[in-house]
Amino acid sequence: MEDMLDRGPAGPDDFDIRARGGDKDFEKALRPLAFDDFSGQEKIISNLRVFVQAARLRSEPLDHTLLHGPPGLGKTTLSNIVANELGVGFKVTSGPVLDKPGDLAGILMSLEPHDVLFIDEIHRLHPIVEEYLYSAMEDYRIDILLDKGPGAKSVQLTLAPFTLVGATTRSGLLTAPLRARFGINCHLEYYDHEVLKSIVKRSARLLSVPIEEDAALEISLRSRGTPRIANSLLRRVRDFAMVKGSGRIDIEIARYALEALNIDKFGLDEIDNRILLTIIDKFKGGPVGLSTIATALGEDAGTLEEVYEPFLIKEGFIKRTPRGREVTELAYRHLGRSRFSEGTLF
Ligand code: ADP
Repeated sequence: MEDMLDRGPAGPDDFDIRARGGDKDFEKALRPLAFDDFSGQEKIISNLRVFVQAARLRSEPLDHTLLHGPPGLGKTTLSNIVANELGVGFKVTSGPVLDKPGDLAGILMSLEPHDVLFIDEIHRLHPIVEEYLYSAMEDYRIDILLDKGPGAKSVQLTLAPFTLVGATTRSGLLTAPLRARFGINCHLEYYDHEVLKSIVKRSARLLSVPIEEDAALEISLRSRGTPRIANSLLRRVRDFAMVKGSGRIDIEIARYALEALNIDKFGLDEIDNRILLTIIDKFKGGPVGLSTIATALGEDAGTLEEVYEPFLIKEGFIKRTPRGREVTELAYRHLGRSRFSEGTLF
């Protein structure tokens, strides 16, 4: 089985390691509910513990909080934990869902004092809705227009003091006035393998699946530094263990399953590999500007920069240089390319 591990990058027919779909209920079951169950992001957690405790001592709502970072790192989970630790209610919505001010007003009016309102993808709020949010965040008030046209009357509604927790994968798209209204700002980082391993072991325990240490590490190494992916891979490996093995997840069955699923050895997904291949094949390995890479890939430059690139830099596949992005030797080796010949090694 060993030699099978050296396969190339994942292709379009492979198992999508970012997929959410049917994983929703499963994610819910594994979602930590208290600070003590949340692994990693130590600095953020220790600060939030202080802010939550201080808010409780003063009997005030927690300051509005912005969580940013790539998908699947625990933004929703953390906001739920904050509400639990504050001992208040938790309501969830998302930027694209709120397409009229009335939608926002309805949710805001339903909040009890000190409740947490979580708005996912807050960078995608409609500009008009966003403007309504300003006065809601600042003065706990909103003005509702009762009619249309120049003579329209408006009424001012007073809201219960609440905490807005906004989550975004693209903090660069947030407008300055919105950003300025958040008193607490947290950037979630990718998880290292040891922390991911402990998350895999915790999830296995909750699912009552026996798992060995080295198998948990193998899964964490291929999870792109992301708890959501780690949990989703665990779920698939568990299926293989039940059908092809004894039900126990050991290193052999973990490797067998991950190979069968075509999961990249470094946890890179299809887009990661396309980014590396584009820089190698079209730009001789770089240096090349981010917007040029984005155009070649047909992707948005900001998404590349905020969602994909940080992991590739963290794992040492890409370097940022003053003249642009450059792939490293590791990227060439991973993709079976040689820096000196233009084509493949084989
Ligand atoms: P995001 O909102 O950033 O996209 P989520 O909060 O939905 O990410 O996290 C995805 C899943 O990953 C959750 O269901 C949770 O089970 C798991 N998860 C995320 N962060 C952690 C963590 N630090 N410890 C344990 N599990 C986590």
